[in-house]
Order: sequence, then structure tokens, then C-alpha cells
Amino acid sequence: MKQYLDFNATTPVNEETAKLMHNYLVNDFANAGSRSHESGALAKKTVLNARKQIAKICSIDTSEIIFTSGATESNNIALFGLLEHAKKIGKNHIISTSIEHKAILDPLKEIENRGFEVTLIDPDSSGHVDVQEIIKSITSNTFLISCMHANNETGSINNISLIGRLAKEIDSEIFIHSDCAQTFAKTDLDFNDPSIDMISFSGHKFFGPKGVGGLVMRKRDGMSLPLKPIMYGGGQERGLRPGTQPVHLIAGVGLAAELAYSERQNWTEKCLKIKDKALKTFNSKGTIIYGGVGSETLPNTLFISFGTHAESVIICLKNIAEIATGSACTSESYTPSHVLTAMGVDEDQAKKVVRLSWGPDTDPNVFQEIKEALEILR
Ligand code: PLP
Repeated sequence: MKQYLDFNATTPVNEETAKLMHNYLVNDFANAGSRSHESGALAKKTVLNARKQIAKICSIDTSEIIFTSGATESNNIALFGLLEHAKKIGKNHIISTSIEHKAILDPLKEIENRGFEVTLIDPDSSGHVDVQEIIKSITSNTFLISCMHANNETGSINNISLIGRLAKEIDSEIFIHSDCAQTFAKTDLDFNDPSIDMISFSGHKFFGPKGVGGLVMRKRDGMSLPLKPIMYGGGQERGLRPGTQPVHLIAGVGLAAELAYSERQNWTEKCLKIKDKALKTFNSKGTIIYGGVGSETLPNTLFISFGTHAESVIICLKNIAEIATGSACTSESYTPSHVLTAMGVDEDQAKKVVRLSWGPDTDPNVFQEIKEALEILR
């Protein structure tokens, strides 16, 4: 049976979450903003419950989370939302990395167009960002550092806690944001570290629904972060993300996060076993692994070259496994991955790299089938 090996692009919704969401679509469907009836009160309570489920993972208060349409929107609110504050305090410099998802890189381009200065730190050849490189780039003008937790292509995990702590030793006012789309709830890392001010997450990466995610905004000295909205409307989500709250999606993301977090150890162990099998199966001369394989890399990801053009690999495997070249959002155009380019991989090599990403229940025998099919292709 063909296996889906594109879990970093998106994951299936687990049955329990889907069932819960169905109820909020069909039965308890009221608007959480309706104050005049019990159904509205129930919807409001449901949203609060989901906020509690997320708050627990980050050891924060429910007032420190807003629900959004996903990590893209959360990133935009985190980045654009601070610009007015930066102007007020007379700072204009942001530090980020060249391996970020387009949902950070594109907003940063626009922010640069608006007159701000952006420094993008390149990764090392294993796809990791050197913490010291970030710290060295801090100037008296820096107001924000945004560094992704795990890269969606290579799976490389950055030490965002260390970045947060060291940056704040230099300037306690600097804001730290992290796009945690690939790690949130599934891993045990850093989400409750107080030095990280803002965390973006996305439901469909941890067996929850698409179209919902959130932004964690840790208070400072009891005060909300000075974020300004990027849209205006009915004032929902503390005015930062106005619009009728999609109660079914919010209930779904809350439950999916709770379930994923309680399963995180299991997810890691099972995915690591599958990775071991993949590494053993593909351990031959012609293969190159990008992004490293140790504990500083996601247990469910392999960014790998089989020495053959990625498009040929994808076509060859089409009845065996569904895989990706780089991130799904850019896979329509065959330009090499910006992450590989930043790692110093030349264009010819980069075109041969594919991404395999799996879930805890993936059958690892698929790797042997892949190996045999690619031997025939070669
Ligand atoms: N950031 C990262 C690291 C991602 O992997 C993704 C999804 O591919 C996103 C952001 C975008 O998330 P969403 O689909 O929730 O907007």
C-alpha cells in the first residue's frame, strides 16, 4: 500500500479531535460572541477550554494566547505587530535566519521595504543556526529576534532557549519570537521557557485541523506585549485577531495539542525507531543526508539525496510513497530549496534532495521498497 511520507507538510486529524469538531459544527454551533443565550455561553466556554489546553503546554495564563488561522498569520502578527512599538522606542533592527519558512521571510521582505533593517543569519552546513552568530548581530537598534525552532525541510532544531537567554543578558527589552510550527506540542522543548516571548503554532502539524493555530504572547512584568493588530473588526482575540471565532477549529486545535503533548514521548520514540530503520536502509555510498541525524534534528524527518534528480525520484516512487521536495508551499516551482542554498549546497546537488517525513504509525518497511525502486531507476 502506498505510504504518505509528507507529515511535515500536514498530518491527518486524529479521530477523537475530528469527532469533537463534528459536534461543534453540527450541534453546539453557536457564536462564542453571542451573549444573549446559553448556546453562546457554551461556545465561549469551549474557546476558553481550548485556551487552557494550550496554556498548560507553555505554563502561561489563558490571556497570553490568541487563536489565528495558523502559523503564517501568527508570524505576521508577531512581526508586523511590533513595528509601531519599535518606532516608538526608536529601534529599527530585526535579526532572523535565512532558513525560515516563507511565512517569516516574505513578511520580513515587506518590513525591509518599510524602512526597517533585517539581518538574516545563515546556517552551518548541517542546517543549524549558530547561536553566537545571532548574539553577535545584536546592536543597540535590535528590537526583535525571530528564529524558527525546527526547520520544516531539514528537520534541524535550533536552540531557541539559549538564544532567548543570551539575547536578554545583553538587552532585556529585546523580543524573542519563534516559529514552532514543526515542533509545538509534539516535542518537549522550550515552550515554557520564559525568555521566549512569542511562539507561533499551527494545528495541522500535530494531528489537528488546518486553518487554525495560534500565537503565544508571554506577558512581561504582568503587562501584555505591545502588539498592534494587523486587521480591525469585532475585537475578538484581544483585538489582535478579529473575526468570529471558529469554535470547531479552536476546540479541535486545543484537543489535538493536548493529545499530542501527552503523546510526545511516544511520538519521539516511535519516530526515532522509524528513522533508525530509514538510515540503515539508505546507508549506501550514493546517498547524502542534509540537516544532520542526531538529537538536534526532528525524529520524523530525513532530507536526503539519492543521487538522482528529485523529480525523477518522486515519479519513480509514485505508487510506493508520497514524498516532497523541500517545503510544500514552494514545491510547484522547481527552484532549489532556499534552505539548501543557505547551507551552501550547490544548485545541482540541491535539485536531487527529497524530504521524507513520517508519523509514529508509518510502516518502516516502506524504506526497503523505496530502496529497491530507486535501484531499478538507477
Ligand atoms: N512555518 C513553518 C515552519 C511551517 O512548516 C509551516 C507550514 O508548512 C508554516 C509556517 C505555515 O503554517 P500554516 O499552514 O499554519 O500557515
